[in-house]
Amino acid sequence: MNVLVVGANGQIGKQLVAKIQHRNGLQAKAMIRKQEQSSYFKELGAEPIIVDLEDDVKAIERAVHGVDAVVFTAGSGPNTGKDKTILIDLDGAVKTIEATKLAGVKRFVMVSSFDTTREAIQASSPSFSPYVVAKHYADEWLKRTELAYTIIHPGRLTNDIGVGRVEIGEKVERGEIPREDVAEVILQSLQNKKTIGKEFQIVTGSQPINEAIDSL
Ligand code: NAP
Repeated sequence: MNVLVVGANGQIGKQLVAKIQHRNGLQAKAMIRKQEQSSYFKELGAEPIIVDLEDDVKAIERAVHGVDAVVFTAGSGPNTGKDKTILIDLDGAVKTIEATKLAGVKRFVMVSSFDTTREAIQASSPSFSPYVVAKHYADEWLKRTELAYTIIHPGRLTNDIGVGRVEIGEKVERGEIPREDVAEVILQSLQNKKTIGKEFQIVTGSQPINEAIDSL
């Protein structure tokens, strides 16, 4: 399976590409936005492709072309303004979904935020709500397509070493999860058809990741 990772140079993205490259039968294409980011991916044997999420759908379609699945794990991050939240977390995600449809690719895994419900929008602070709105409508756009989607809602991300155990479900208690474990959940979601058409929250818990995913 050839997987396009959008946001490959991110903290989850880099770990995901490495995991894909070390797993039999999987190959990563890493969508990045700067030439100088490409050496990490080349060393792993992954194919880097330079496309900016602010480019048009056609440019993103060129990155999607020829893969079997797309993972969206990009984000504007906490150090940019609300303009970038709209341009990347919302419009960048929607353009990637549209590019996936145009390229004839069926499988799409979205890394969303922990709670993107309307209730969460209403409950969030004025500074945080634009981010939740962006994630909410990106998720909604994906759910209204015919794509074989999976939407992952991780808790607060940490850089701790992965523990390989999670709590998974439509609604779980708010908590933390290492990015390494999120990367593993993405990878195993790609390989388990039970995740198709599903969305779930994940935090660190007591169930091994493979069992948790298999219980969906
Ligand atoms: P991250 O390290 O900030 O990575 C985001 C990636 O998106 C970066 O590689 C960045 O590229 C890329 N990106 C930004 N603008 C772009 C553009 N215009 N074109 C192409 N790529 C662009 O994020 P993370 O920690 O891996 O998290 C991944 C996702 O999880 C994010 O969407 C985040 O919102 C979500 N999430 C976060 C939390 C949390 O607790 N922080 C919780 C749940 C979900 P550069 O490397 O070039 O900057």
